Amino acid sequence: CGLFGIFAPEKEIARLTYYGLYALQHRGQESAGIAVSDGRKIVVEKGMGLVSEVFSPDLLAGLQGKMAIGHVRYSTTGSSLLSNAQPLVVHFQNGMMALAHNGNLTNAVEIRQELGSQGTVFQTTIDSEVILNMIARYRRHSLEDAIIKTMIDIKGAYALLIMAEDKIVGARDPHGLRPLCIGRLGERYCFASESCALDTIGAEFVRDVKPGEVVTIDDAGLHTRFGTPQERIAPCSFEYIYFARPDSTLDNLNVWESRRQMGVQLAKECPIEADVIIPVPDSGTPAALGYAQTLGIPFEEGLLKNRYVGRTFIQPTQELREVAVRIKLNANKQVIHGRRVVMIDDSIVRGTTSSKLVEMVKGCGAKEVHLLISSPPVKYSCYYGIDTAEREKLIANQMNIDEIRRFVGADTLYYLSEEGLKKALGSDSVCLACFNGDYPTTVPKKFSKEDME
Ligand code: 5GP
Ligand code: SF4
Ligand code: MG
Repeated sequence: CGLFGIFAPEKEIARLTYYGLYALQHRGQESAGIAVSDGRKIVVEKGMGLVSEVFSPDLLAGLQGKMAIGHVRYSTTGSSLLSNAQPLVVHFQNGMMALAHNGNLTNAVEIRQELGSQGTVFQTTIDSEVILNMIARYRRHSLEDAIIKTMIDIKGAYALLIMAEDKIVGARDPHGLRPLCIGRLGERYCFASESCALDTIGAEFVRDVKPGEVVTIDDAGLHTRFGTPQERIAPCSFEYIYFARPDSTLDNLNVWESRRQMGVQLAKECPIEADVIIPVPDSGTPAALGYAQTLGIPFEEGLLKNRYVGRTFIQPTQELREVAVRIKLNANKQVIHGRRVVMIDDSIVRGTTSSKLVEMVKGCGAKEVHLLISSPPVKYSCYYGIDTAEREKLIANQMNIDEIRRFVGADTLYYLSEEGLKKALGSDSVCLACFNGDYPTTVPKKFSKEDME
């Protein structure tokens, strides 16, 4: 999911939030919402679909206030329904509150059962509502105190924006699994999941919210506190590999450059004599460029992407996913015919994309097709908010590398090593759990999106 929030009474906050969410659209296409506060009450508008589909100029004009938070959703718990769209807004004893959450809790089912047994009712089937409920229950104290108490109880991954009538609080889980950064627009502050959203609204990047940090923006500016004791720092490596926009910088590492470095590492680990390097656009592009630059082999666009198609994972069935690959990508015969081709993608999840693409490239007369992947094999499920499917559906969990190579029909299949990935990221303290099963938190024994339905 994607988050954006801004405190700026003198600005058109709903419109700025709309632009911020627009820049974060890649983080979720299922629903979008904006909540505004005028200092007394909170109003929210949300709907299913893209930011541009949900918000008309009229709707935006109706959202007046001093501050706003917004959310774009990609479902990792709970179905894709309007009732599960965010921001969530509640009335409670002392007023109103709105919440937007990116990530997944790992103990939401337990907490929900406990709250349920004490009579709490729930209106959604998402873990985010559990967070909002806990904050409301703790809110005899200040909002920040209530958030900090909640952070001690909840486990897992979260970047949060919580808006009360007079302030917005941003918080990040103690592992830093999901990203969140702070921007400045004149004298006012804002939050965004990725720095590209700050660029879009003309805000200056201030810094990332630190793991476990609780940052408040209000009329007096910016204040910060630490919520929970420090834990193993483990920002998500998959944000760099696939999820984030390449023009974003997360935790001081630029996404484009990290991806290009993954290609440089691939070239060191698996140099192939080829005539042309082609990326699987867009997520494979910087790695393919890094590979081509390192080996001095021409880089060309051998696959063209239809700009009007969203991310194919959004397709719910296997059959639709296969059709979607062909709608989304087509091979460029001119570049491929009669050549030895190295094709680079960022990851293989189910194997659908790769097998269709190898077939297409061979169908255009490639002499050889070598498939290189700029991350290690995805073998384990993510419990932290990236929907990489259940373990049984991950092809690398079911087959060894040579079996996958035969399945996708490539002459070579090579995955970047874990060491190579860490070098590209310039860090040892990242989450690599979907590759090696080393989760930075305890994880649920069984997990499904419908756990709370
Ligand atoms: P596959 O067809 O093997 O299941 O998917 C691999 C392709 O999906 C890669 O091109 C990769 O860029 C993309 N991909 C990897 N992880 C995700 C994800 O979590 N969500 C979406 N939408 N696409 C992903
Ligand atoms: Fe990211 Fe993978 Fe860790 Fe999930 S398991 S947070 S996708 S690195
Ligand atoms: Mg891709």
